[in-house]
Amino acid sequence: MNAVNGTPDEAPLDVLIVGAGLSGICAASYLARELPRKSWTILEARSDLGGTWDLFRYPGIRSDSDLFTFGFEFKPWRSEKAIADAPDILVYLREAAAESGADKKIRYHHKVLRAEWDSKAALWTVTAHRTDIGAEARIRARWLFCATGYYDYDRGYSPPFAGMDDFRGTLIHPQHWPADFDYAGKKIAVIGSGATAVTLVPALAATAAHVTQIQRTPTYVMPLPSRDWLADLFRRFLPEVRAHAAARKANVLRQRWFWLLCRNHPKLARRLIRWSNRRSLPKGYPVDVHFNPPYDPWDQRLCVAPDGDLFKAIRAGRASIVTGTIDRITETGVRMASGEEIEADAIVTATGLQIKLFGGAGLFVDGGRVEPSERLVFKGMMLDGVPNFCFAAGYTNSAWTLKVGLLCQQFCRLLALMDTEGHAVCVAERPPGEIATRPLLDFGAGYVKRAIDMLPRQGDRAPWEMTFNYVEDARMLSRGEIKDPALRFLPGQDGNADAARVAGATAA
Ligand SMILES: Cc1cc2nc3c(=O)[nH]c(=O)nc-3n(C[C@H](O)[C@H](O)[C@H](O)COP(=O)(O)OP(=O)(O)OC[C@H]3O[C@@H](n4cnc5c(N)ncnc54)[C@H](O)[C@@H]3O)c2cc1C
Repeated sequence: MNAVNGTPDEAPLDVLIVGAGLSGICAASYLARELPRKSWTILEARSDLGGTWDLFRYPGIRSDSDLFTFGFEFKPWRSEKAIADAPDILVYLREAAAESGADKKIRYHHKVLRAEWDSKAALWTVTAHRTDIGAEARIRARWLFCATGYYDYDRGYSPPFAGMDDFRGTLIHPQHWPADFDYAGKKIAVIGSGATAVTLVPALAATAAHVTQIQRTPTYVMPLPSRDWLADLFRRFLPEVRAHAAARKANVLRQRWFWLLCRNHPKLARRLIRWSNRRSLPKGYPVDVHFNPPYDPWDQRLCVAPDGDLFKAIRAGRASIVTGTIDRITETGVRMASGEEIEADAIVTATGLQIKLFGGAGLFVDGGRVEPSERLVFKGMMLDGVPNFCFAAGYTNSAWTLKVGLLCQQFCRLLALMDTEGHAVCVAERPPGEIATRPLLDFGAGYVKRAIDMLPRQGDRAPWEMTFNYVEDARMLSRGEIKDPALRFLPGQDGNADAARVAGATAA
């Protein structure tokens, strides 16, 4: 790999954002609004912005969350549909990028490989592979904001089913949907029960001969209107910005209320979901077989069927569900352990994602590799012992962006405070003595369970705890005190020797 001439001479940036998905655009927008004098840029591995919403191209690809909460606080969602399709989300993101000036600051085809913190210089040096010209680029920055999402863009998760090589039809993972795949009139088997399968089945069923969803374990699926009548009402009577804020608040409360109901009264929540499923399905449909998960609602992410699309496809006889264990893939389809054969022209393995932290980039502090699993998260946005580093991880029990927006606000407030007080370095330090730690995510999804050991950990008390509670986080991140006994601030320039000593010690 060649080094790109000139890049190392570039003056260090104030902030280097990695990733131009929803979180990267969010961070750029807050920086542009709150700290207009800061210099920043975004490195993006792909050739376009949007992350998840550009990568996934399968039929029907849409959000599960309403866009009043999944969108940004500062940018009203204008579309009629509250649960939105990927193309509409992309338009929204492109607008946000243009409004913040991020569209002109994204360096595409820059895949970040490593980021090295040097305490003496109080700088990050980030090495990226230029995928367009096969060269290496090095960029220096005072702060690193990692907005790389949480999963591997190159490979989805596909458990090895016996006989996969025997199948004579088309085998597809939704993460790599072939643009020219014509499924009209075909028999399709979709393996999986998560949000992707629940989205794909009704979308494919519109023109396929038949779609069979094959699931080992059922998921909770809630029919929800794709339009939000309350938001429509707000939009009718309030100016745009206030209507967006009101709809956002109402949906935050609605999501929180339902989540609390599920956690505190799981039996009641289960009965409610079951009742709505029964109403949506034909009389005598085996709801207890196909829509009766062995866990409580919100132990795993709940799936949404906008306007009951999945149930409509089942009612129309265009889609069906088979629950059980797969024995093997055959030449012509899928054989279940029960002996049932499902004929298919195509098999879609909607079996999930593989977690990848920080987009696979290695982090180093003064030459020492940072093992994320040995670190504690501070306020859900920094790692202990890693100076001037922030990462964007959103909620798993409501819209991702709600949390990312709050942590971007905290990030900007922290930078402003450091400017005012003349600090160059900020590092979170573990509290002295023992602190009980637990996994970062208390969430039963397969992709989380498979990766839990490589994720950073959370502590048993604030500010080391992940709250997953927007109201509490808003109090702490958007309005609360920035300074914290766990945060160490260090001077730049003249005080760099001090910076080197302390940051180096914490990174050991
Ligand atoms: C199909 C699907 C539907 C979803 N629906 C919802 C939903 O309804 N509600 C919800 O809350 N969440 C949902 N999620 C989760 C969703 O991924 C997040 O909510 C959100 O899109 C994440 O945004 P992000 O910017 O943090 O990450 P991403 O969208 O993953 O973007 C990360 C960006 O970083 C770039 N990148 C990664 N590694 C590197 C590197 N090494 N160097 C340079 N660039 C890099 C990527 O190319 C990408 O552009 C969904 C996820 C999927 C897969």
